[in-house]
Amino acid sequence: MTATATRVLVLNSGSSSLKYQLLDMHDAARLAVGLVERIGEETSRLVHTPLATGGAKRETEGAMADHDAALKAVAAELAADGLGLDSPELAAIGHRVVHGGLRFTEPTVIDDAVLTEIERLVPVAPLHNPANITGIRTARALRPDLPQVAVFDTAFHTTMPEYAARYALDVATADAHRIRRYGFHGTSHAYVSRKTAALLGKDPSEVNVIVLHLGNGASASAVAGGRCVDTSMGLTPLEGLVMGTRSGDIDPAVTFHLKRVAGMSEDEVDELLNKKSGLIGLCGDNDMREIRRRIDEGDDRAKLAFDIYIHRLKKYLGAYTAVLGRVDAVAFTAGVGENAAPVREAAIAGLADMGMAVDADRNAVRSDEPRLISPEDSRVAVAVVPTDEELEIAQQTYALVSA
Ligand code: ADP
Repeated sequence: MTATATRVLVLNSGSSSLKYQLLDMHDAARLAVGLVERIGEETSRLVHTPLATGGAKRETEGAMADHDAALKAVAAELAADGLGLDSPELAAIGHRVVHGGLRFTEPTVIDDAVLTEIERLVPVAPLHNPANITGIRTARALRPDLPQVAVFDTAFHTTMPEYAARYALDVATADAHRIRRYGFHGTSHAYVSRKTAALLGKDPSEVNVIVLHLGNGASASAVAGGRCVDTSMGLTPLEGLVMGTRSGDIDPAVTFHLKRVAGMSEDEVDELLNKKSGLIGLCGDNDMREIRRRIDEGDDRAKLAFDIYIHRLKKYLGAYTAVLGRVDAVAFTAGVGENAAPVREAAIAGLADMGMAVDADRNAVRSDEPRLISPEDSRVAVAVVPTDEELEIAQQTYALVSA
């Protein structure tokens, strides 16, 4: 790496998508952002925004057979802006990797052995790791000389104590199949808990924070002095809060019932719980804006879905208050957490005895900045702290390769 190499390309590879951001770590500026959708179909689409040049958003449609074709198309767009992947200013590529198991507790420079280990984790992350691996292979083929770093969604949660991470299952069976609670969204929980401490003017080691990452996927975490001590997602991202399309916590016997009594197959149950449950299963919509609009029009199904979503959130707030013993802050983040004031108001309503309250005027403010929404004298600070997983991945990647 040359002394002038300060750029990091962040890649987030999904099964049929590739999201990317090119950042300059000199000032954390975003130079370009974009997304390829429907990879492998005739109608693949690349949307590229060249922020550095201030140019207009560019869209390209046409078949991109695989991630290799997609990344080459992205490289061509970047090159057209003078930001090509062959630039000596590119220091590294940072990859979001969903599952790092117990082995990866830190961002890791990818070599063949690391890639093999990520492949070994496919059985516990069948939906995510294969796509991440494809993205890594493609990027390594394109720039074999460049450091590539894996940043794991699970890493922040590896500090959970054994009594929080282990299910009350037969130990031999659980261990043979690596069944335990891993947690996800770790990059966001790490970033937001640190930012929340900064908002309070404290060092992360001094504060206990409950982070509520409420996007389409949603998870809560209890962070004590900068270390995760519990989180709501488990072996997979299905456990925990009510989500856009996932059920979250459910009696596992429901799955036996669906198979034995409703005659559903394994795959159908999987699809039901992951894709057709949560808010969309309850009311037909998973976008909180639409749900609020329907509630305002007097729609009872939308109201019940909202109430179930809020009830689950309150249960986790109570549980994590007990886990932490002392809570200094609750931080709302991600699409719903950052934008849906009614969700924040309803989740905190009635929790005054837990020291939590929301000020209506503060809660109504719209901003991209971290901010407090609790009253001045609140015992627990309630905050909105926008997440930035790409920046966190870029920072962790750059820190590793420039060390
Ligand atoms: P993902 O899990 O896909 O990364 P995001 O964090 O982007 O999700 O969150 C997406 C969700 O955020 C949407 O499904 C929608 O419910 C919610 N959302 C986005 N903007 C608003 C808004 N202005 N008001 C309420 N909810 C919003």
